[in-house]
Amino acid sequence: MGAVALSGQSRVARTLSIYVVDVEGGNATLFVSPTGESLLIDTGNIGAGAVRDATRIMDAARDAGLSTIDYLIVTHWHGDHYGGLAELAARIPIAHFIDHGPNVQPAQAVDDFLRDAYPKIYGKGTHSVAKVGETLGLKGFQARIVTSAGQVLTSPLAGAGSANPYCAAFKPGTNNAEDPQSVGSLITFGRFRAVHFGDLTKNKEFELMCPSNRIGTVDVLLGLHHGQDTSNSEVLVHALRPRVAVMNNGTRKGGLPEVMQTLYTSPRFEDLWQIHFSVLSGQEYTTPGLFIANWVDDQAPTMPIGPVPLPAPGPNTPPAPQHDGPAHWIKVSALEDGSFTVTNARNGFSKTYGVVPK
Ligand SMILES: [Zn+2]
Repeated sequence: MGAVALSGQSRVARTLSIYVVDVEGGNATLFVSPTGESLLIDTGNIGAGAVRDATRIMDAARDAGLSTIDYLIVTHWHGDHYGGLAELAARIPIAHFIDHGPNVQPAQAVDDFLRDAYPKIYGKGTHSVAKVGETLGLKGFQARIVTSAGQVLTSPLAGAGSANPYCAAFKPGTNNAEDPQSVGSLITFGRFRAVHFGDLTKNKEFELMCPSNRIGTVDVLLGLHHGQDTSNSEVLVHALRPRVAVMNNGTRKGGLPEVMQTLYTSPRFEDLWQIHFSVLSGQEYTTPGLFIANWVDDQAPTMPIGPVPLPAPGPNTPPAPQHDGPAHWIKVSALEDGSFTVTNARNGFSKTYGVVPK
């Protein structure tokens, strides 16, 4: 094939592939460079979902032709982010394990995992704690840590640092202990820029983005804490000016009206892509189905027009709509000129976002 390429054919553009895998309201996002280097952010759900989610991550890894995961970042110690790790590590070698350090929200399953299982798993590779400002040792694209263990980037990146006009209207949020510890990453590939903040919550968003925007502008906002309204403040979303967001929501997790409104009103925003329909959006707030990767197993005759209120937790709470059938990812294919194409693996719908001024 090399001879063919040398004989005057135009060079094939180099692509960074990003797979946002359906792990049912958890997170697993896989980045693969043109030469097959890889970074996985999170491993899906704990418990009954772990085998399912590890299998789905492996489907993406196989699609990308990977035989190793070079870097794994576990954003924080919640079961929907580290849960499939043991199952995944049994299926594919993982070279470097990165996390924010110890769990700060005591929970038996996590504490047991960190004491007993995790050291044996990362012992087959290397392990480090993410330091804000550091860049991972990938050659094909850049991954820079911008938040970790409650620390945030303190000095602006090249080209960033202007005053953030949204700071004045910021309203503080509430959070548990672990979400704000999330390891957040800026991924760059030539002029293409994407961010994944794990489940970073509003008050940390404010610390990171105020009074000045130290990150700059991004093309794609990934994750969005499943579309929960404890995250996704305007100081973050509107200041980053993403053209596209890919939300890792569940069937009844995230996609909340406040977040949807923040996205739809964000400057420069073009499209929201979602891993699931969310009944919490209703037809009033949902993005069109073309942009949504997964349905539910048993279709209700219609989606409610208004957003369904989140039921209070308790023994009588009805289960969220189930999705155990075939799972589909959203794939972002980015070029070094900053343009990118997003594809919905369920229906083949794809859209290209051309080069625009930053
Ligand atoms: Zn989460």
